[in-house]
Amino acid sequence: MSLHTRMLLGFIVGAGAGLLANVFIGQAGWLDGLIHYVTDPIGQLFLRLLFMLVIPLVFSALVLGVVEIGDAKSLGRIGLKTLVWILVVTAFAVIIGMLCVNLLQPGTGLPQDVTQSLLAAGSERAADVAAKREGVSGIQILLNIVPRNPVEAAARGDLIAVMFFALMFGIAATVLQTEGTRSFVGAVQGVYDICLKLIGWVIELAPYAVAALLFSITAELGFDVLMQLARYVGTVLLALAIHFFVVFPILLKLFGGMSPLRFFKGAEAALLTAFSTSSSSATLPTTLKVTEENLGVPRRVARFVCTLGATANMNGTALFEGITVLFLAQFFGVELSFVQQVMILVMCILGSVGAAGVPGGSLPVIAMILVMFGIPPEGIGLILGVDRMLDMCRTVVNVGGDMAGSVVIGRSESAAGARADVAS
Ligand code: ASP
Repeated sequence: MSLHTRMLLGFIVGAGAGLLANVFIGQAGWLDGLIHYVTDPIGQLFLRLLFMLVIPLVFSALVLGVVEIGDAKSLGRIGLKTLVWILVVTAFAVIIGMLCVNLLQPGTGLPQDVTQSLLAAGSERAADVAAKREGVSGIQILLNIVPRNPVEAAARGDLIAVMFFALMFGIAATVLQTEGTRSFVGAVQGVYDICLKLIGWVIELAPYAVAALLFSITAELGFDVLMQLARYVGTVLLALAIHFFVVFPILLKLFGGMSPLRFFKGAEAALLTAFSTSSSSATLPTTLKVTEENLGVPRRVARFVCTLGATANMNGTALFEGITVLFLAQFFGVELSFVQQVMILVMCILGSVGAAGVPGGSLPVIAMILVMFGIPPEGIGLILGVDRMLDMCRTVVNVGGDMAGSVVIGRSESAAGARADVAS
């Protein structure tokens, strides 16, 4: 049975048994015992395994991303244009997601006392971080981006400080280009590859974690929680559709000189591969082929933008991260100030660069962002059951973004080339 079928099965079994248990909860003592000693620990184990990977994964992905962009100096302006494309279009994606979730409020509606008790039952670390964040001024939040001690920041799970350190590290490694830095980058590549392998193993456990986490949560909250989940799925799909069918076509028309219809037709094979594999990395060979052959992008542009994009340019993932974090904040009744929402925006952009292009690659990053903002990471359990379907859709948007970027950058490169020819 394929992994996603097993995950769906886990969802159905967990939610079904949880709903049944909801009828008896409070009356049957053994049910509380089951939740306390069996299903909760299984869910916790899965979350811990995800957390375990965050720091090495994000650090290595960001260092490698910066080094790759730095290497593109030899490619002239392409590196810079790709960087601008990634940052601007990803920011668009997150803003669309955050607007949708703020307007539609899919996470609100549960009675306050329930959400407060959930929050209290949430991980101590989350409560800890939340307490520390209270009363911290905007300036202080910005200042905290720079860690005093990167190891301590990593130990505290302060993801943004780790990201900052990784970016600086990558920049210095790119500037230096000595024998030593090159072998260091090779080692970082090794760390990254190992993390990918480990994520693959952890995700294998997901079906059991889905069943366990969903059982715990539906046993306590009953049917309402499933309705809320349906609203969340609707919000993610709507925002992804806006980015894919509105933002990409506008950018392609304005800057790529290509009709959206021609783009979608030409890109079809890669989009379908992305949908069925849920992995930007696994789709890369197909992405390269269709970008060169069907979309007519010059080889060196396609090669650079799509290869870097497969790990660093993830519009769908960034949008999904933004929605998920805000949805779970609403769900657990965690108030987020405007400054915090802006921080989440930045975290989602960097977090999408730091996520791996494999199925479920963004889950570790989301778990960590949740903890940073005082939202119980157990919330991941809630969305895990529907994640595979959302993963398929967001990977399509990720890969679509790589190809749209290649078309736009390819066109501006040919225009620049033509101008240079005329001048000479
Ligand atoms: N599956 C996504 C990709 O490969 C990453 C993620 O959002 O989980 O692009």
